[in-house]
Amino acid sequence: MSLGLRSYRTARTAKRCSMHGCRRAIQPGDQYLRTSLPPLVDVNSSEHWWSLNVCTVCMRDDATAEENSAARFNEQHPIGTPVRAYPGFRPEVDASARGLDTRTRSAASVLGRTAVVWVEGHGACIALTHIDVIEGGAS
Ligand SMILES: [Zn+2]
Repeated sequence: MSLGLRSYRTARTAKRCSMHGCRRAIQPGDQYLRTSLPPLVDVNSSEHWWSLNVCTVCMRDDATAEENSAARFNEQHPIGTPVRAYPGFRPEVDASARGLDTRTRSAASVLGRTAVVWVEGHGACIALTHIDVIEGGAS
């Protein structure tokens, strides 16, 4: 699950959406999402906090994308599918990251704004981006 902080705010000053490819203006009085990622977490590979302003259009697109990814996962991978889960960092981010070979114990769903799934042997849900399906594994 993402460790990012998210808060919904009402803009007091005009700003621009920071999502890639979106240059929509966020006007005073508009709702927007302020999201902050700690250093070295998720897509933030820098050593500094990232703060992003997300306009309502991007919020919606983002939520839909997560729902689609959960639905696609469920179509292809029933509960009990063997997976390697990375509760912390993915190995691409931290070479010492340790995967957990396990299987799913729930269908994927969107929790908050992140597509997640629960696996055996780990209490908390794990973002689908931290799940690799073990192809050819017996289920
Ligand atoms: Zn936007």
